[in-house]
Amino acid sequence: SRPIMEDEMKKMERFDSDSAASLLKELRGTFASGKTKSYEWRVQQLKNMIKMIDDNERAIMEALQQDLAKPRFESFVSEISLTKAACNHALKELKHWMKPEKAKTAITTFPSSAEIVSEPFGIVLIISAWNYPFLLSLDPVVGAIAAGNSVVLKPSEISPATSSLLAKLLEDYLDSSAVRVVEGAVAETTALLEQKWDKILYTGNGKVGRIVMAAAAKHLTPVILELGGKSPVVVDSNVNLKVSARRIAAGKWGCNNGQACIAPDYIITTKAYAPTLIDGLKNILEEFFGKDPLESKDLSRIVNSNHFSRLAKLLDEDKVSGKIVHGGQRDETRLMIAPTILLDVPEDSLIMNEEIFGPLLPIITVDKVEDSFDIIKSRSKPLAAYLFTSSKKLEKEFVENISAGGMLINDTVVHLTNPSLPFGGVGESGIGSYHGKFSFDAFSHKKAVLYRSLYGDAPVRYPPYTPGKLRIL
Ligand code: NAD
Repeated sequence: SRPIMEDEMKKMERFDSDSAASLLKELRGTFASGKTKSYEWRVQQLKNMIKMIDDNERAIMEALQQDLAKPRFESFVSEISLTKAACNHALKELKHWMKPEKAKTAITTFPSSAEIVSEPFGIVLIISAWNYPFLLSLDPVVGAIAAGNSVVLKPSEISPATSSLLAKLLEDYLDSSAVRVVEGAVAETTALLEQKWDKILYTGNGKVGRIVMAAAAKHLTPVILELGGKSPVVVDSNVNLKVSARRIAAGKWGCNNGQACIAPDYIITTKAYAPTLIDGLKNILEEFFGKDPLESKDLSRIVNSNHFSRLAKLLDEDKVSGKIVHGGQRDETRLMIAPTILLDVPEDSLIMNEEIFGPLLPIITVDKVEDSFDIIKSRSKPLAAYLFTSSKKLEKEFVENISAGGMLINDTVVHLTNPSLPFGGVGESGIGSYHGKFSFDAFSHKKAVLYRSLYGDAPVRYPPYTPGKLRIL
């Protein structure tokens, strides 16, 4: 029938620089009309987004199942609920966030009053990644809309089912004159990046992060780069083993089977405690995923065969292959890899020198738990750093000495659910942050405004600069 043909024709048309330029022109027109700046418009879009999620929960879960075999529970908790929570939080706080913030005045401008006004940047580009393809696409869109911008979202082509669902849903539920989805891969993203944006938020790896930043630099466009890295977990020997093992396992294998930017990447513990910790982790893994984890419905698969081969290569490296103390099973046809623990892998191995982003968890041992600090500090600054300990002293030293995007003591991953904390990296793990009010701020220019009256003008600051005037100052 005709509509299908039109649909196919549309897909065949390549999205190129000209398409990107005309899209931006259209969105600039909408932004210039002032429509997106109104409180009412922002609230309506956020409400529509909540309705969109409620109406389409099943379709969202199915897309995530198709892209990642993501367990329904995980899809619900970490994609659907978190996105809705971001909308609800913004709705609740928006009026307050939009209010100009009173600032102190200075003697140099007496009498005056001062305030900081949050204004939208204009047209924002959001490029997202495949591992939490729903949340990582919409969470920044919430911030951009809350701050009153027009938005283009480019979801990841590596999670195609979620990408096309997002394109359809946003078109159906949000104001298409201001919020748009462009689907595609490198060519389409490159066409988008050639344009002049007012802000770009990119989620993904550092190599592409550099491409995004270089493209943005041409137009002096500010960027937020949400990148990754190797997030370490330091485990002291004085911890509650069961709770610690459970929380480490939940953060690693219970989050997309390790394909999460803040998943524990490697553990550092003492030589003496390592066997106890490994036993604890093995027990929990059996409790979580049974005796044959490849058959578990509660483990996501590896996203595609490229990532499967990448992980297999890390595991098969000569100096690493003998170090597996648990797991190691894989099934290439179904792209499944079992939770795998490795002990004492060499520091110069591949697995210790690139972000794992999968179900492999190496453990490095040290004599004293404090020795872990030097290992972490000798590497790039991670997106998250975790410490399990009962020692307040160690906790304090960890917070004071280790630089990371974020930090969590005695748990993993859940710090990202607190909207009062900024989420973002430092150094190689990223630039800038978002979540909660930080999302609103990320997409707002903070305009300094000073109000003076024409009364009470003191001529001392005006020429001629007589010696007498200098004495007064
Ligand atoms: P990806 O392959 O989905 O790429 C991310 C985006 O970059 C996609 O939209 C893709 O189309 C685009 N892209 C790819 N190549 C490009 C190019 N040459 N030019 C322009 N755009 C291009 O995702 P990924 O990079 O595999 O994601 C995994 C990485 O992302 C990990 O390092 C992970 O830690 C990090 N990550 C960070 C966060 C965070 O919030 N900080 C969240 C998730 C993932």
